Amino acid sequence: MLHSVRARLTMWYTAILALVLVIFGAVSYVLLAREIRAETDASLADTAHEFAAAFDPAEHTHGRDALLDFRYSDREILVLSPRAEVVMASKSRLGTVERKRIEAFVRAGGRGLHSIPGGEEGDGIRIIATPIDVLGTHYTVVVARALNEQADRLESAAHAVFFGIPVALLVAAAGGYLLARKSLAPVTVMSMKARQIGAETLDERIETGNERDELGFLAVTLNGLLERLQGSFESQRRFMADASHELRTPIAIIQGEADVALGRRDRSAADYRESIEVMQRAARKLTRIVQNLFLLARGDAGRYPMSMSRFYLGEIVADCVRGMRSVAQSRGVTITCSTAEDMVIVADEELIHRLVLNLVENAVKFTPEGGKVHVSLASEGESYAIRVADTGHGIPPSEQERIFERFYRGDRVRPTNAGGAGLGLPIARWIAEVHGGELRLDHSGPEGSEFVAVLPAEAVSS
Ligand code: ADP
Repeated sequence: MLHSVRARLTMWYTAILALVLVIFGAVSYVLLAREIRAETDASLADTAHEFAAAFDPAEHTHGRDALLDFRYSDREILVLSPRAEVVMASKSRLGTVERKRIEAFVRAGGRGLHSIPGGEEGDGIRIIATPIDVLGTHYTVVVARALNEQADRLESAAHAVFFGIPVALLVAAAGGYLLARKSLAPVTVMSMKARQIGAETLDERIETGNERDELGFLAVTLNGLLERLQGSFESQRRFMADASHELRTPIAIIQGEADVALGRRDRSAADYRESIEVMQRAARKLTRIVQNLFLLARGDAGRYPMSMSRFYLGEIVADCVRGMRSVAQSRGVTITCSTAEDMVIVADEELIHRLVLNLVENAVKFTPEGGKVHVSLASEGESYAIRVADTGHGIPPSEQERIFERFYRGDRVRPTNAGGAGLGLPIARWIAEVHGGELRLDHSGPEGSEFVAVLPAEAVSS
């Protein structure tokens, strides 16, 4: 029962309300009791005052009439002699015990307000004793009032509080529960919906209702989460599909070449060698794709073990250019490089090497015969900028952002399969970003393209 938020809310609400009502009831009761007592005392004082005024000593013989005039249904008047004996009394319903106690009080010189405890069943009386002089004799006028009426009023008030509070709490608890159930109903609906959404139905969304209230906001937040999940789920799915597609080609080449080599008996050693070379190239491509995939997967999971060291960036750039020189020459492309020697960087040397190599390889690969590739390194404030410019055909504007997507290969490249698997630029960008830098296409057009990688001198691993 208490596992439900509805029940807990109702319980807390009822408990707090109970506390408030009990405090309110107790305070009201105390104030009411005080008020009733004050009212009684005031009425006694008024009566005594009025009686004393009317009990003119000159007309004291009419005292009894006057006294009778002062007889109120709810209070009694007694006149006591100096020896504290009752000489005059209204038609009193006071018990003898109480009368005796009044006399004892007056005899002891008691004056003013005083409470006298009741007999067997009464609630006691409240009196006021006032001295009056009648022809030089000191009498005492006592006005008394039984306290049972006040006690009854207080009892009714106590009953009202005693029965009223539980009834109010019951009504409030029922109302609170219904209210909590009504306000939390959308949460139940949301949970049911969320439970139904699986990998195959990630495009479904939770109904938001009023987006400005807390529950609507929760639904919008959950929908945002679903949106992101769907996005990453789809990109994973695409990645898997693309990866298996890319892996299929070299595997098919190896398989086909092996079938051919083994299928014919009369093959020369040169034929076998040729087949093995084809298989070797395919295997190399396969290895490269797998290595790249592994690198990206570890990068995505944030588990790539970066090995940071301090080295000269110029040396890495020059090394990559040197390594590509023979390939460039074989394609009739001139490759040049301008770097300074004292550019020290703290980074993962192997990754930086890979970044530069991917850019230079692309530049050489996509530059036609007779073209030029120029690689430069310059410092820009706290960072270094590696620029790789070529005189190739350029990248169409529609492809300029897409070339950084995984497995994306330009339309020009695709039919000839001249490029790699479309992982070179995504990996290069990831390397730049993981070092706290960036990789972008600076410009590209029919006159050529220029990529720029900006790396902070002291890599901030992101
Ligand atoms: P790959 O080189 O393996 O095809 P990349 O991710 O390195 O994959 O490059 C993606 C695409 O970007 C290439 O297929 C090509 O269309 C385009 N591209 C990259 N570098 C250049 C360049 N220097 N000149 C023209 N196009 C380029």
